[in-house]
Amino acid sequence: MPASVLRETQAAIDEVPGLGLSVLGVSHRSKWFRDVVAEAEEHFRALLGLPPEYHVLFLQGGSTLQFSQVPLTLLKPPPNEAEYLHTGYWSGKSLPEAKAVGPIKTLWSGQAEGFRRLPTDAELATSAGASYFHYISNETVEGLQFHRIPGRDDVLRICDMSSDFLSKPLDATRFAVIYAHAQKNLGPSGVTVVIVRDDIVKRVPPGLPSMMDYRCHAEAHSIYNTPPVFAIYVTMLIARWLRRDVGGLAAMEKINATKAATLYAAVDGSGEFYRGRAAVADRSLMNVVFNLPTAELEKRFTSEAEAAGFYGLDGHRSLGGVRASIYNAVTQSSVEALIGFMRDFQQRAG
Ligand code: PMP
Repeated sequence: MPASVLRETQAAIDEVPGLGLSVLGVSHRSKWFRDVVAEAEEHFRALLGLPPEYHVLFLQGGSTLQFSQVPLTLLKPPPNEAEYLHTGYWSGKSLPEAKAVGPIKTLWSGQAEGFRRLPTDAELATSAGASYFHYISNETVEGLQFHRIPGRDDVLRICDMSSDFLSKPLDATRFAVIYAHAQKNLGPSGVTVVIVRDDIVKRVPPGLPSMMDYRCHAEAHSIYNTPPVFAIYVTMLIARWLRRDVGGLAAMEKINATKAATLYAAVDGSGEFYRGRAAVADRSLMNVVFNLPTAELEKRFTSEAEAAGFYGLDGHRSLGGVRASIYNAVTQSSVEALIGFMRDFQQRAG
């Protein structure tokens, strides 16, 4: 969380300015909350330059629910296969959910290579007849990020952007559905932002449970049932911060690129003590994943880091190693402090 938004949030837990109530106690049916949703939507539209045919929805169930909601919307009655990329842990989670609903083709998998790189365009034999094309823009666990938009413009493109949404400018008009959960760049957990084009909303098949129906949520302006008021409020504050304080997504991208370049340079300049995991061309600017010479040293590194005030550096439980997540709110000075710790650790242990 950006420090200024954290302070605003703390104040709003006590009392929302001008309202006389805590944000934790305001009704989701109040005019105040409807205005919060409207303001959040307005910030997202401005940040992304979204045309009117896109809906901005604030939903629940996380990105995991979207793994099912997307195929439930687009694969009934069974049409052509949908094409999926298997680029890491999270796309691996999306596949069985989609396969439970309809015909899915895994267009490319990096599993045999240990998910150390992403496919080139030449490796993707996409078909004009696919129902849709699904991929994850940033594999959070392996630290792999697409620095281009894969897939074809004549097929519906669906993207899970959970871990790099709002980190850089985005041409949303090339997508039919974009989804991203909080935490990470969006705010506290509990809300999932779904940007969905109107023709997709109109295609929702009959018979879906209403909570799985984009149309219900679009018609109700994200207040179909009791929404996560607190999470949506803080997400609105973060979108406002991105627009007003940071100066938009191009400015955010510059900050993020500098942070990542500084950290990768420290990894690469360590004489192989720290070793980046991902292929250089596909390295994530959000999740910097690296190894040390042994698992024991990695354990010592993360526990000494924690004692020094650097939390959450353990790699994902499925992979081990070290992962520094440098989302939007992480500052350049925090990155430099981490590098100071890395150099010090290498001197002591290397
Ligand atoms: N997709 C990606 C890229 C993620 O990083 C995560 C969670 N870290 C998920 C999906 C799952 O999201 P949720 O826990 O909100 O269901």
